Amino acid sequence: MSDSIFRPGDGQVQISQAEIADRIAELGKQIRLDYQGQPLHLICVLNGAFLFMADLVRQIDMPLTIDFLSVSSYGSRTESSGEVRLVKDLDQSLKNKHVLLVEDIIDTGLTMQYLLNYLKGRSPLSVKIISLLSKPSRRQVEIDIDYLGFEIDDAFVYGYGLDVAHIYRNLPFITSQKV
Ligand code: 5GP
Repeated sequence: MSDSIFRPGDGQVQISQAEIADRIAELGKQIRLDYQGQPLHLICVLNGAFLFMADLVRQIDMPLTIDFLSVSSYGSRTESSGEVRLVKDLDQSLKNKHVLLVEDIIDTGLTMQYLLNYLKGRSPLSVKIISLLSKPSRRQVEIDIDYLGFEIDDAFVYGYGLDVAHIYRNLPFITSQKV
C-alpha cells in the first residue's frame, strides 16, 4: 500500500517498535524496584505521552494510580517558547503520593521546568521525571531526568505519540525526516 503512513521517514533518528518495548520493560522493572511498597502516582503529559504512559504502566508490576494533565506551549511548531499554559488540570490531589511525571520528549526543558514547579506547589511526597526521549544538545535549562528511554540528536521526531501538526501519533515506532 503506497499511501500507508506506517513507514519510517528518512532522517537519522529511527527507534523501532521492538526497541521501544524492550526499553520500557527495563524502565518498568527499575521503577518497581525503586517504588515497591510506596504510593506511586503517574502523571501523563498529554497528548504526546499517551502511548508511552499506556505501555509503561503495564510494565510496572505493582499497585499504582494515574492522572493526566495537558499543556500547550505558545511557541511555534518546532520551537518551545517556555510560556506554558495548563489546558487540562489534574483530577486528583497529590498529597501523600510519590509523583512520577511521564513526558514524551524533553527538548529545551522549559515545559518540564514549568511542570515541576507546578507539581511541587501541590505538596506531593516527591516528584520524579520519566521521559521517553531527550535532546540534550537543545537544553536551555538544566533538568535532572530520573528515568530516560533514549537520548537522541537534534532532529524533529514523530510517531509513538509524537505528532507533526497533529498527525502521525499512531505510528508504532519513532522516526524523523531528513532536514
Ligand atoms: P521543551 O519545552 O522541552 O522545549 O519541549 C517539550 C515539548 O515540545 C514536548 O513535550 C513536545 O510536545 C514538543 N517537542 C519537542 N521536540 C519535539 C520533536 O522532536 N517532535 C515533536 N513531535 N514534538 C517535540
